Amino acid sequence: MRIIAGLFLSSLVFSASLRAEPIGEADLLRHIEILAGDAFEGRKPGTTGENKSVHYIASQWLAAGLKPAGVQGSWYAPVSLVERIPERSQIYFSDNSRGRNIRLREDEIILRSGDPSFRQSRMAVVFAGYADYGQGQDALPMAGKLVLLPVEPPEGGDGSESYRDRKLELIRNGAVGVIGVVDDQKRWSRFRRSYQRGATALAGPQEHAALEGLISLDQFSRLARKSGLDAKSLLADQAAISYVDLGLNADAVAETQVRTYTSHNVIGKIAGTNPKRGALLFMGHWDHFGECRIEDPLTPEADRVCNGAIDNASGISLLIETAKRLSPDDHDRDVYFLATTAEEKGLLGARAFVRNPAVALENLVAVFNADTVALSDDRKMIAVIGLGQSGLDEDIEIVAAQEGREIDRSGKPDVYLRRQDGYVFLERDIPAFMITSAFADEVRLQAYINGPYHDVSDEVNDDLLLGGAAADANFHVALGRYFASTITYPGLAPSGGADN
Ligand SMILES: [Zn+2]
Repeated sequence: MRIIAGLFLSSLVFSASLRAEPIGEADLLRHIEILAGDAFEGRKPGTTGENKSVHYIASQWLAAGLKPAGVQGSWYAPVSLVERIPERSQIYFSDNSRGRNIRLREDEIILRSGDPSFRQSRMAVVFAGYADYGQGQDALPMAGKLVLLPVEPPEGGDGSESYRDRKLELIRNGAVGVIGVVDDQKRWSRFRRSYQRGATALAGPQEHAALEGLISLDQFSRLARKSGLDAKSLLADQAAISYVDLGLNADAVAETQVRTYTSHNVIGKIAGTNPKRGALLFMGHWDHFGECRIEDPLTPEADRVCNGAIDNASGISLLIETAKRLSPDDHDRDVYFLATTAEEKGLLGARAFVRNPAVALENLVAVFNADTVALSDDRKMIAVIGLGQSGLDEDIEIVAAQEGREIDRSGKPDVYLRRQDGYVFLERDIPAFMITSAFADEVRLQAYINGPYHDVSDEVNDDLLLGGAAADANFHVALGRYFASTITYPGLAPSGGADN
């Protein structure tokens, strides 16, 4: 009931005088306490915790004066998700020329099907690396094949392709199955355990092969030997290999628990007077893990809620307060606010957004992602993840100087570039940044990652430091005023150029 009363009070529309007030720690804490409270059940997609979370965000943005920008005039854009948990599977490999069966250790290959059950015989088996297929833009000839693909893409190179990207390319080119080769026998059991817990993907036949799985290095080596090849050199040369026919066949059956459900992105908008000059997007993920430590032998009354106070109630709270401070009186571009779902399952809400965007992607002048902001009391240093990836660095430096912030130049925060929602926009050549004091405080960040991160202790407690977060929130307001104004940031020429 307290929550409902809170929603009522906050739905008084934010007044102009309050817009001028800087964002303080208490402003942020208020939302974090609600979003990361046990009543929100850890904000797991597809649960009542989701309903409470997305409703809270929408009502706060409504109070801030935003207009809904989801589907059919609502605040929400549905995101269809598929969870797959492997149940039973078997696979037999045989040698083409002699037709002899090859015995593999059953606990060193694990499979799951795209549909609840899969059965297919005599699939030709190939090994794929990460090299471009050498013949112009011809598709890889993968039709009907079972592909073994290293889970670690080669280092160096242009580094633009991940396991996921390569897998999706193989599926597009007709592969029936894609099995990841885990290139480290010591890590096999960890990979296997995590695979057994299941995985979630966006819905759609292009998102998951009919058969997917993992194989250990030892068992991959056995298969390679039977083909007269050496596993170590195949893996070492993967950057130069497009694919190699292993001269083997496979027969496989797999049964998988498949559950399809709907989650939601929340989208709001401040309409500018000059939307033809582009739009700005602020975003952060609202989702977290719900209950965790399920398999731990905890006492029944032990706390199992993964509240996600820092990850990412803090970022959402920054977005709510930033939305309250921006006004169409200060800028002429449209400003969008997006709270994504299923970031924790692989940036899925962000991927759903770029596939079906509320605003034409080529009109986005900049994207700012807020994730895990509440880890530092330092109001000076900021990490700018996304530096060097677009033409906007100098403008970020102007706003930083204006706000008295110093940019961390160590390059260390860059390891998080691909692990945050903003990356999905960078993949589409849209300037995207994640800017926060939390990632500039290396010691505290490491302590958080090795401790409460993705665990029950990421809750409202002394680990939550809001001094830096409040400064970060005010910095986002400054970024909003700068980039949403065609005076301070002329940016794009009037649109009419690129087609969607
Ligand atoms: Zn997370």
